[in-house]
Amino acid sequence: MRVIVAQAMGYCFGVKEALELADELADPTRVTIYGELVHNEEVQSRLAARGYVAMSETGRLIPATPAVMVTAHGISERERRKLLAAGKELIDTTCPLVRRVHRQAEKLRDEGYFLVVIGKSGHVEVRGIVGDLERYAVVERPQDVHFFTPGRLAVICQTTTAPASVGPILRQIEAAHPGQEVRFVDTICKPTRDRQNAAQSLLNRVQALVVVGGKNSNNTRALAQMARDRGIACWHVQTAADLDPAWFEPFRGQAVGLTAGTSTPDGVIRGVYDFLLDLASKYQGRPAA
Ligand code: SF4
Repeated sequence: MRVIVAQAMGYCFGVKEALELADELADPTRVTIYGELVHNEEVQSRLAARGYVAMSETGRLIPATPAVMVTAHGISERERRKLLAAGKELIDTTCPLVRRVHRQAEKLRDEGYFLVVIGKSGHVEVRGIVGDLERYAVVERPQDVHFFTPGRLAVICQTTTAPASVGPILRQIEAAHPGQEVRFVDTICKPTRDRQNAAQSLLNRVQALVVVGGKNSNNTRALAQMARDRGIACWHVQTAADLDPAWFEPFRGQAVGLTAGTSTPDGVIRGVYDFLLDLASKYQGRPAA
């Protein structure tokens, strides 16, 4: 078995900067992380061990601690004002590329467009994007599209949207609004695009793929979906402990790829890589079935 790693994978700069800031804070016990700093259980356990108070991403209340850390996914201005009005000190780790989507959404709203956001309904980043909008729709698949408005429409994306999913949704929106302006502004972030492109190239060279990342990480799930869409065997694992050597038995004479979402720590990727290398070396010299 050969193990081939993706050219781009793992932490993006937005996640790295948020974690660096969290690591630098001297007194985490006075800080509530407003949601999940990254969608990764191991990282969350580490932050909890340092004393950070965690708050669920759904049904968020005003935290009891004097300081609140806004995650890289961002929040709406409405929510920001609510926290400030409650006297909270905000430690803001919103990724600049998420801020760019917020600015774009505001600009298009002010120009009179009805906003269509391609993304996962209810996802924390999407809630932040639409939180200051009055007129909008969130669509994840072409079948979510229906007639939205007789006016002008602008389409933007959650930063971690799979680029390949955009075309069919756009065509469906245009078909549902014949003769109307449908303006598309691509707001998928570059790290996501780089990881998706690298995974696509990898899928040309492998017979199976291991994707490492949190189960609720949108971009990690998108990487796994790419493999499934191409009929390639794929396992989405959170750590090396989730791997089962039996899965790889049918692929021992073949190539297995490795990639990871933007919220996966290097050490976790390394653990999975070592597991696969170990298995590959065990298979060496054994005849293929
Ligand atoms: S995935 Fe993209 S938008 Fe999200 S934190 Fe990383 S760089 Fe920023």
